[in-house]
Amino acid sequence: MKTVKTIKEVRQQVREWKREGLSIGLVPTMGCLHEGHKSLIDTAVKENDRVIVSVFVNPIQFGPNEDFKTYPRDIEHDKKLCESSGASMIFNPEPSEMYFENRSTNVEVEGLTEGLCGAKRPGHFRGVCTVVSKLFNIVTPDRAYFGEKDAQQLAVVKRMVRDLNFDVQVVGCPIIREEDGLAKSSRNTYLSKEERQASLVLNKSLKKAKKLLEDGEKDALLVKRVIEQEINKQPLARIDYIEIADSESLRPVKKADESLLIAIAVFIGKTRLIDNFTFRTGEK
Ligand code: AMP
Repeated sequence: MKTVKTIKEVRQQVREWKREGLSIGLVPTMGCLHEGHKSLIDTAVKENDRVIVSVFVNPIQFGPNEDFKTYPRDIEHDKKLCESSGASMIFNPEPSEMYFENRSTNVEVEGLTEGLCGAKRPGHFRGVCTVVSKLFNIVTPDRAYFGEKDAQQLAVVKRMVRDLNFDVQVVGCPIIREEDGLAKSSRNTYLSKEERQASLVLNKSLKKAKKLLEDGEKDALLVKRVIEQEINKQPLARIDYIEIADSESLRPVKKADESLLIAIAVFIGKTRLIDNFTFRTGEK
């Protein structure tokens, strides 16, 4: 398995593979890979002849007060995980390889990015859509793999691909969790022992909400309030948002009908964690 740092090297390899008629899967990541990323890579390896994993902490999707500088990086660990999972290449560019100093083009998806993380992290999805567009143009994959853990990101990327006619199939993959229910995340490495324990409140509050919905509760505000009360019991937790939205439009709903995305973002100490589930009426 090769690790390459330049766009030119990726393009050369992709050209060769395409000449041989091989299909290509892309897994975009920010590295510090864990079982969640591995599940995306495993699926990509099953569905494609060759898999490229991009490892790039994308500066333009971080806000000025966010953790770009401290975001965990461990490329040697990432290489081992990719190699043992059967990936063919890691693309690990420097920011200067991806962005010209006088860059002046961004990709913006409107509407879907207004709520949830989009409201709390201005410019975040512009950064995500811009880098994902660039990766699609560099790799020209047949399929690209994204986790449902970042549910809004998945919806936004799907919309961008549709609207801009990218010739790629976007594949969503289920959330991988620790045994105790915490969604796996590179940011979990920030948590102290006490905070790690406190972080269980995310999954716990969502489970309560799911039970209510399964039992037929239709009042979305009531479900929200139950999540809020559960999280507020945990002194180390501070709610960033709780949202119950239509899973297609991502607009908040008052009545819990049809297909819903229940998504939360919670600070545990200084670490911002997200979690979600989708729910369809009549589902158990
Ligand atoms: P990141 O490196 O955090 O930008 O994540 C790269 C990709 O892996 C994104 O599509 C994420 O949604 C996905 N991902 C991260 N954590 C998980 C998880 N616990 N389960 C499933 N997918 C995940």
